[in-house]
Amino acid sequence: MRRSWIWGLLLCACRAAAPAKAPRASADFDPARLLAEAAALLRVPRTLGDPNRERGIAALRDRLEAMGATVHTQPFTGYDPDGGAPFALTNVYGVIRPKAPRQFVLATHFDIRPWAESDPDPRRHDQPIPGANDGTSGVAVLFALLPALRDSLDPGTGFTIALFDGEELGRPGHGGYCAGSMYFAEHVEEAPPSMARAEFGIVLDMVGDAELTIAREPNSSRHNPALVQRLWETAAALGERAFVDATYPHAITDDHVFLTRAGIPSVLLIDYDYDAWHTHADDLDRISGQSMATVARVVFETLTQ
Ligand SMILES: [Zn+2]
Repeated sequence: MRRSWIWGLLLCACRAAAPAKAPRASADFDPARLLAEAAALLRVPRTLGDPNRERGIAALRDRLEAMGATVHTQPFTGYDPDGGAPFALTNVYGVIRPKAPRQFVLATHFDIRPWAESDPDPRRHDQPIPGANDGTSGVAVLFALLPALRDSLDPGTGFTIALFDGEELGRPGHGGYCAGSMYFAEHVEEAPPSMARAEFGIVLDMVGDAELTIAREPNSSRHNPALVQRLWETAAALGERAFVDATYPHAITDDHVFLTRAGIPSVLLIDYDYDAWHTHADDLDRISGQSMATVARVVFETLTQ
């Protein structure tokens, strides 16, 4: 069953490449630990408009610093595209080895949607979603990848964990999505210089669905076809069947579009066939540690093989 997706723009379909050579042994990404991470993150205030949000952003910052990252923040103001109400937003960047000659970006959005326009109960459309998959699973995976990559990559390679804010500050029919990555693309000079010279980016969004299915995304295949091919070849070699040999029928506008606009050709890993999307059902019982571990493994092996 495929839902109607507002983000869709273009059409495309193609088949996959052959499996790659077997990569070396995988890092250990523990599903139970990933699920516990997501549960802990759900207690960190990140919902757009939440008065305790500053505390939530500080917690993300502390966590990145505790893992050895140098943290930069990029505060800005976003506006509700339906009515113009202002929202104080902050992109958070954790940088590992900024002086290294080679750089890449791993990104996700950390903000939680304050509306639930797809919920079956119209009386609850103006209430925040839990956001376990949409806004949390990506952060949990990046928090697992950071130390694994920090310890496995050669010293000549550094990277930025970009936690974008305001991805959810959009309304169906009004646009406005991806406020954080759009702000980054328009103010690259405010971001860490090592991030600005990244060679590529990978964006994670909704990677925790217990029934995980990730297809190639058409914008990604235009931005960085070689990276898409490497990710899917790695998944095939690892036997990770959640990365299916298929392409979504619609291109998706997500943070990877604005990273690419900033000169960082980026791909999106997303399971958008998620029937709890933008509803109050997007809670912890709908995501699995195994799904998040799958995505962590594929990204890790692609970046380290
Ligand atoms: Zn969303």
